[in-house]
Parts: sequence; structure tokens; C-alpha cells
Amino acid sequence: MKLIDAHVHLSDAEYADRIDELVVDAKNAGVTALVSNSMDLKTCQNDVKLSQEYPNLVYAALGIHPWNVNVLKENELQETIAFIQNQKDNVKAIGEIGLDYKYETIWEKQMMVFDEMLHLAETLNIPVIIHSRGTTEKIVEMLPSYRVKRVLLHWFSYPMSALYKAVDKGYFITEGPPASYSNGIRDVIDKVPLTNLLTETDGPVKYWKSPYNGQLTKPSFVRNVVEAVSEIKKIQVDEVAKQIASNFEVFFDIKLN
Ligand SMILES: [Zn+2]
Repeated sequence: MKLIDAHVHLSDAEYADRIDELVVDAKNAGVTALVSNSMDLKTCQNDVKLSQEYPNLVYAALGIHPWNVNVLKENELQETIAFIQNQKDNVKAIGEIGLDYKYETIWEKQMMVFDEMLHLAETLNIPVIIHSRGTTEKIVEMLPSYRVKRVLLHWFSYPMSALYKAVDKGYFITEGPPASYSNGIRDVIDKVPLTNLLTETDGPVKYWKSPYNGQLTKPSFVRNVVEAVSEIKKIQVDEVAKQIASNFEVFFDIKLN
């Protein structure tokens, strides 16, 4: 069974010095692809390094996260864009980018950086991985004015009306460990076609409910996510994993080993 963690943050400080251990654990669990999402210039550089250290397993999604737009150093936005443009062979998507309503005091800056990141994805002709807490409807309305190759809405939670619009447009979503315990997320999984779904962990984000109970989040957790999808959709586990692996190949234009 080929498992996918399409959204994790391997360059997060919490994973420092543990990458080898995480990779061994992931491989043992059958994880065949991890997409490490960047937050700023420093994590962009490190994610490229990791993708080169673990070829055909770790892939880099590069970009500036909405939470970081207010702490960008002078010229960091332009330097990040220039860095990403020079990584044509290494960058598989622009991510994690987006808008977060909880940070409304920096709304204009979020919009400016998001717009730059979407233009970068247009130029490089690669997919985008989007954070859309409280902004999914707005983002789904905004995106058609950009010529973005493919769209993934990470940790899609609400509203259901935006899910249907996103699916209509051929967008993908990711779901992670809450698939085991959150009724809202289980409802989304029930409604989204399996052909539009990918699995993630968003590690090192921690999950406090059973069966995770606050332990260190590892990419191998995606096995539980696939099992939850299987249970919700009443489709065999193997078949779910196979479709998600195929979705990964379509979305990222990557042939799995
Ligand atoms: Zn994330």
C-alpha cells in the first residue's frame, strides 16, 4: 500500500534532528511521498535541501505562510520569490500560502503576499497548496482570476457550500488526523469525491484526541487517515490508498516509485 503525506512541515524546529527517524518510520508504514510545505525563506531553503537528501520521497512546496507575512525581513518577499524561481526542478508546488481570518490586522499584507505567491505559481505553472481558515469562500471566489495549474485546499473544514464549488472547479482537498474523531471533518470526507481527496498530517501540529493524545505527529499517521476514509466512505482500505496515490500523481505531476 502506497501512502501519502501531502502536507507536512519537515523544516519546523520541532522536527530538528529527527528527520532520519521520521523518514524510517514513514517508510516502514508504507509512506511513499511526503510534501514538505515551507513557511518563509529559511524553511524554503531547508525544504529544498531535504528534497535532495531524500529523493523520490520528500518533495518541496515553497512559499510564504499567511502567519508570517508580518515578520518578513526587509526584502524577504522578493528574495523568496527569486529563490523559488531558481528552483524550477525542485519545487513541486507553491505552498503553504493563503489567507487566515484570525490575523485580520495584517489582512492587506496577507492579500499582497498571497497575490504574489499566486502569480509565482502562474509563472512556474505549478500547483498551489492553500491555507484558508475562515476564508475558504473568499478564496474559492478569488482563484478563477488567476491561471493556476491546480489547487489544493488543505485541512478543508467549512462551509460545505464552498466544498461543492471547489469540487466543481476540480480542486483537491487534504484531510488529516481529525478524520478519526471530528464529526465536521468526517462529514467533509463523506461529501467529497474520493478523486478530489489527499491525505496529510500537517505535522508537527499536534492532535490531542484519541488515538493521538498529543504525541509527536509523524507522517506515518496517514495510515489512520486512510482507514478513517475507508470506514466513512465504505470503500476498502487498499482501494482508498490506491486512489489517493493516483490523486497525488495527478495533482503534483509526480510518478511514484
Ligand atoms: Zn500546514
